[in-house]
Amino acid sequence: MKITDHLKKSNGKTLFSFEIVPPQKGKNIQELYKNIDPLMEFNPPFIDVTTSREEYIYVNKEGLFDRKTTRMRPGTLGICAAIKHKYNVDTVPHVLCGGFTKEETEYLLVDCHYLGIDNVMALRGDAMSHQKYFEATKGGHTYATQLVKQIKDLNNGNYLHDICTQSDDKSDFCIGVAGYPEKHMEAPSLTTDLRRLKEKVDAGADYVVTQMFFDNQKYFDFVEAAKNAGINIPIIPGIKPIAVNRHLQLLPQVFKIDLPEDLITAVDSCKSNKDVRQVGIEWAIQQSKELLAAGVPVLHYYSMGKSTNISQIAKTIF
Ligand code: FAD
Repeated sequence: MKITDHLKKSNGKTLFSFEIVPPQKGKNIQELYKNIDPLMEFNPPFIDVTTSREEYIYVNKEGLFDRKTTRMRPGTLGICAAIKHKYNVDTVPHVLCGGFTKEETEYLLVDCHYLGIDNVMALRGDAMSHQKYFEATKGGHTYATQLVKQIKDLNNGNYLHDICTQSDDKSDFCIGVAGYPEKHMEAPSLTTDLRRLKEKVDAGADYVVTQMFFDNQKYFDFVEAAKNAGINIPIIPGIKPIAVNRHLQLLPQVFKIDLPEDLITAVDSCKSNKDVRQVGIEWAIQQSKELLAAGVPVLHYYSMGKSTNISQIAKTIF
């Protein structure tokens, strides 16, 4: 079922959902299930599964290093299918521009359609780890807007190169896109970034999921600014509970987001990462309560591995 239909069906009640990251190559899917199991009691209508970009690795071959390209966390679509089958819940694969040609994206979307996956999250992806800036893959898209257009085209039965003119089994993907309450790191201003978001919406996006934020006012202001920019689709807040002290440096560095002073002070006063995890849970609970009271459509949590903290938050909220 489409996310937009889940929202309609909820009659304004805030839903619970979360995002998971595929296991590293060679790791067992059972570990993933162990982390999903405790969250199923909160009835997520959908679970997002991230896609990671390919990266270079150097393999030692008799003293010479051979550069290979690999994806350390493959299997997004397989995991989506496995979770859908095991838990009877909708899954949302993240589809990236980076690392994929348009043809590969078309094959992926065709597979999604055959698997009964109704939602996809259309993202540009970041630069590869050795690159300073994002570079479009040869034959791929430069911006998420173009990917949204490709998905929308497929929904209309238009395959690449006009090969299928008589499509009788059209996909009908509901399309999610990313939004940034504190603006995307490369955008020159929030206003410009919102204009770009509006382009994704005009291209056919059905809903937005935000980058994590730790100050709800940033989300509220963003939703207001988005409305003023003519964006009238649901904007789902993304929440990440802080789990280790290192997040104080890592999250601003990687995602270019600010952390509130009170949160920094609370984390800094912790004696161990166990205490930090508790601070993260309590902060996320306070955020969730306020967002719930404001009537957000979904509270969407970034789990990134262990789910015990999300389970504790959800127990208090749902
Ligand atoms: P875009 O919407 O294409 O925007 C990228 C930048 O280009 C922005 O600064 C925008 O303002 C600018 N821009 C857009 N259009 C134009 C234009 N026509 N001309 C000039 N500038 C333009 N990454 C992963 O690798 N895997 C994941 O699974 C993943 N999941 C995510 C889930 C969520 C909810 C979010 C918020 C992010 C996720 N990301 C993921 C990270 C995402 O890929 C990065 O933030 C990436 O840098 C931007 O992706 P985007 O889809 O927002 O790009």
